[in-house]
Amino acid sequence: MIRINENYRKLQSSYLFSEIAKRVAAHQEAHPEADIIKLGIGDVTCPLPPACVKAFHEGIEALADETTFKGYGPEQGYPFLRDAIAAHDFQSRNADISSDEIFISDGAKCDTGNIQELFATDIKVAIPDPVYPVYLDTNVMAGRSGAFREGRYGGLVYMECHADQGYLPALPSEPVDLIYLCFPNNPTGAVISAAGLKEWVDFAKDNKALILFDAAYEAFIRDAQLPRSIYEIEGAREVAIEFRSFSKTAGFTGTRCAYTVVPKSCRAFDASGSPQKLHDLWNRRHTTKFNGVSYPVQCAAAAVYSPEGQDQTRELIDYYLNNAAIIRKEMLGLGFQLAGGENAPYLWINTGQDAWAFFDRLLTQAGVVTTPGPGFGRCGEGHIRISAFNSLEKVKAAMQRIKTALH
Ligand SMILES: *Cc1c(COP(=O)(O)O)cnc(C)c1O
Repeated sequence: MIRINENYRKLQSSYLFSEIAKRVAAHQEAHPEADIIKLGIGDVTCPLPPACVKAFHEGIEALADETTFKGYGPEQGYPFLRDAIAAHDFQSRNADISSDEIFISDGAKCDTGNIQELFATDIKVAIPDPVYPVYLDTNVMAGRSGAFREGRYGGLVYMECHADQGYLPALPSEPVDLIYLCFPNNPTGAVISAAGLKEWVDFAKDNKALILFDAAYEAFIRDAQLPRSIYEIEGAREVAIEFRSFSKTAGFTGTRCAYTVVPKSCRAFDASGSPQKLHDLWNRRHTTKFNGVSYPVQCAAAAVYSPEGQDQTRELIDYYLNNAAIIRKEMLGLGFQLAGGENAPYLWINTGQDAWAFFDRLLTQAGVVTTPGPGFGRCGEGHIRISAFNSLEKVKAAMQRIKTALH
């Protein structure tokens, strides 16, 4: 008898986005003239940078010619892209990462989900609340949690992020084995200092734990004092895996290219307690289950590191950061306590009331769609996420409307 993985039954239906869609549709139906502005989006809106488009085309032309045609490439990615990443994203910032520690993939979502297959089922997992739901759901699927009760899965350690600590998670008060961190954060927009990140690296070392560091929004960091990679922190090579993506950096959400960094000195332990190289395990997993990102897409990603690509991606991110600054200024002006919007495309607003009630108010009185915080965890109660991913015109119009509605 073929049986299902019962862990899937523990998963909560991701009702967040369907509920948002339902409420937006109802409002639109009642007010057909309403011009609704979406500031709830976790997806980019600007087109690909011209340098990437040009390289993308050239990659396709290469495949159209017998003399330059390419079939399967290396599963880990082409050296031209891995070398560019190592030099620009790490070595230039004194982070000791070499190109053979970089694994090109089709997404940080897949990588953050897939990586946990390297670890034992009975480890203790620490996950922030609020959180990008992928970390949580993939561990539930793998059987690392108990049942869902009162907004929480049993067996997991939730690291609560509250306003009084700037929405940064505190070090767990109990020993944990696997720790998920994401900075700049989705959904809160919070960032972490080098000193703050060092505490996590030291904690992981002391507890023989591992940090999974999601740096998908690294390109939004403009403050030169903030670490862009966990490998800028001493000791991180042994205790951290980092995830990066071209999705938010260069508008690749529909193009698909990302990478995971697994240093050769990064370790986890076998049943007898002796350290094993995670690089070997991930290399085995990646080459067994993945056949590489397409050549034209890797060409397009490599173009991010050309002088034109660097200028264009910077301009792209500046555009969203300007939107974020406008939202931040207006919401602060309205007296809200908030995080994010600086060095990050998201703002996390403490609404001072029920999150869904506030969502409805913005929808019906201002025609603006946001994301209710409870969709990201229990600590999201009373909060909404506002995203800077939209056009400047729409962001300005949305903030004007919110000001009028809430004044
Ligand atoms: C958007 C996002 C990613 C990127 O995912 P891709 O699969 O590379 O598009 C990763 N982590 C977080 C937290 C994100 O918000």
